[in-house]
Amino acid sequence: MKAAVVNEFHQKLEVKEVAVPEVGYGEVLVKIKTCGVCHTDLHAAHGDWPVKPKLPLIPGHEGVGVVEKLGEGVTSLKLGDRVGIPWLFSACGECDYCLTGWETLCQKQLNGGYSADGAYAEYCVAPAAYVARIPDELGDVEAAPILCAGVTTYKALKVANVKPGDWVAIFGIGGLGHVALQYAKAMGYNVVAVDIHNEKLELAKELGADVTVNSSEVDPVEAITEQVGGVHGAISVAVTKKAFEQAYKSVRRGGSLVVVGLPNAELPIPIFDTVLNGVTVKGSIVGTRKDMQEALDFAARGKVRAIIETQPLDKINEVLERMEKGQINGRVVLTME
Ligand code: NAD
Ligand code: ZN
Ligand code: ZN
Repeated sequence: MKAAVVNEFHQKLEVKEVAVPEVGYGEVLVKIKTCGVCHTDLHAAHGDWPVKPKLPLIPGHEGVGVVEKLGEGVTSLKLGDRVGIPWLFSACGECDYCLTGWETLCQKQLNGGYSADGAYAEYCVAPAAYVARIPDELGDVEAAPILCAGVTTYKALKVANVKPGDWVAIFGIGGLGHVALQYAKAMGYNVVAVDIHNEKLELAKELGADVTVNSSEVDPVEAITEQVGGVHGAISVAVTKKAFEQAYKSVRRGGSLVVVGLPNAELPIPIFDTVLNGVTVKGSIVGTRKDMQEALDFAARGKVRAIIETQPLDKINEVLERMEKGQINGRVVLTME
């Protein structure tokens, strides 16, 4: 099968023929149709994070495809079912986290396109219990970004603990941010969109942002404080440390900052302000299988729709280069055929 492979960090991915993986107990072989390109895949290809991915690696955790082979013991899926390959590739099912509906925190989890081979390929093998079921209303292309960008930002908004009518700021209107703002609107929040590129803010306006701020032109903390009195929740899905510092300072008293983007950096948090302002700072990692169903349901009902550019798998290196320069509006989805 054809696959895009990371052989070494900071090298171009190699698009080449590799063996179709064998299906094990409880697993399914999925014929991949599409796969979204997440900034995480760029971090993986660069080895940016303290925990490194496997090498060689087939990235991709927004994969959509069709079940083509069932491993022994699989009863929950049948041939022809449409499924998604997510970041939460598998978890142990037995630890405290798994038992309490926090399988995203399982210490034995595997991650699609990181510690397990993902969906930048014509085929992918995955555990039947953790693949997402794609609703009939969603096409193979439009479903892809929901599998990470969608579920991640939906979950982040849930843990922000805000209520309809509250103000939420989204820092970084990229692949995650442009769907974050749509979930936020669908959940009844008022939205401030912050980015450093005007095209992204134009898109944000089209998608219903109530206020947009270009943080390369004005101080977003001042703008947000002046215009809305600080936000009840800030979600940082940007890829630079600066945005996190600004997001923290944009939060009003009693509000929360949800940290989602993953630049390899420290976030210095002033103790005095955090205490006196009663601010909550939370990390949020993708979403559980239940969050995934809910996030897909929003999309199936037309409340959230990713803005998508399709590219063939062979173009992956060009796509990653553009992503690094902030030149992608919405999400790129790779097609395998
Ligand atoms: P992306 O490249 O599509 O978008 C990043 C956006 O941030 C771009 O629009 C860019 O213009 C903007 N940006 C850059 N610097 C900025 C600044 N100073 N202020 C405001 N905006 C700024 O990336 P993506 O696919 O949306 O992923 C974003 C980050 O989220 C990555 O670090 C990725 O690894 C991480 N991520 C985390 C999770 C999780 O579960 N926590 C899941 C998926 C992705
Ligand atoms: Zn992702
Ligand atoms: Zn577990």
